[in-house]
Amino acid sequence: MNTEATPHCATLGFDKNRIQQALSLLGLDADHEKAAASSLLTEVISERVDDVINSCFAVIAGSDSFELIERDIGIEAFRQEWKYRLRSFGKDFATLGYFEERLALATAFARANIPLGALQLPSFLIQQALIDNLSDRSDLKADEIRALLDVILKLTALDLYLAAEGYHLPELDKLEEKLDKLRIEASRLQQRTWTDELTGVMNYRRLMESLEHHIKRAVHRGHERSPLCLIMSDLDFFKKINDTYGHMVGDLVLQHLAKRIKSATRDFDLIGRFGGEEFVVIMADTDLELAKVIAERIRLGVMRTPFHIKKFNIHITISLGVAMLKPGESRESLLERADGAMYEAKKRGRNRVVTTDDMAERQ
Ligand code: GH3
Ligand code: MG
Ligand code: MG
Repeated sequence: MNTEATPHCATLGFDKNRIQQALSLLGLDADHEKAAASSLLTEVISERVDDVINSCFAVIAGSDSFELIERDIGIEAFRQEWKYRLRSFGKDFATLGYFEERLALATAFARANIPLGALQLPSFLIQQALIDNLSDRSDLKADEIRALLDVILKLTALDLYLAAEGYHLPELDKLEEKLDKLRIEASRLQQRTWTDELTGVMNYRRLMESLEHHIKRAVHRGHERSPLCLIMSDLDFFKKINDTYGHMVGDLVLQHLAKRIKSATRDFDLIGRFGGEEFVVIMADTDLELAKVIAERIRLGVMRTPFHIKKFNIHITISLGVAMLKPGESRESLLERADGAMYEAKKRGRNRVVTTDDMAERQ
């Protein structure tokens, strides 16, 4: 099926099979009715297109929907459309093209908020005009007239069916729009449940999930190929900042700190707030040596430039512990070892980086 050329068919699921189903429900058989449909065009329609359309439009002009049609479609365009439809009434009715044209018109009507009845009315009127015409035809045999009547009724039913189907498409669009909004809302909510409100980095829950994921990844890829490192950091004497400047300024320090950690790390490093003024960095595909360099960059980034908050220049330092995942190690154990290294940094005088290897060397 050429979905490019038949977008309405494609969206509403009209492929060759579905067309066949629709036609057989209406009792339209492509081979059987083909001859009747084409003699309808030559015998009944072709000479009378203008008469039929004019008589239809005389009725439509009095209907409530006329103004809407005039405003949104244009009466002349509408008249030409129906002339064209009448001239091709039933021509190749079993094709995607025939379905597409009718679905497209119905969709345009639905989008312009013109009631379905306004689209179906001309079909009824045309049907009536064609039937009236047949009753005066002494030149045709009774069974010819019966066959023509039959095909007029079936083709009109097909038109009405396609008009109704085409009206679903804007509803589908609206549904899709609603779904898009819901998807955006869901991802916004998810983002909120994952984010630390104060600093915008991952919250504890997300941090734990993320760490678990990266441990699995390191195990799957192999520790040699994908070493995983963790930095645990804690501000030095932060209580004093709160005591001196107040808790609100303390909060702003934490916001600035998160930004400094971000700018000292790489795009793919993951930053989370472990609690209070403790931040964790997860570093995938990073060995201990490189992790230490990055931890040192964070330390310098915090120490070198005072935090300028509400006219205060606040000097602060940070202590960091670094650990690398060992084969078979759990998330808790890795966190504990990074935490141990961080406490060792505090013990050794704060404002420093200690790795688990540094600790081992000392012992
Ligand atoms: P050190 O770590 O160097 O031993 O000293 P510290 O003074 O930083 O001690 P500790 O890490 O034990 O204390 C952390 C303090 O951080 C305690 C608490 O008042 C403060 N704190 C924790 N969470 C927040 C927060 O969300 N906002 C603010 N303003 N302060 C917080
Ligand atoms: Mg602390
Ligand atoms: Mg502290």
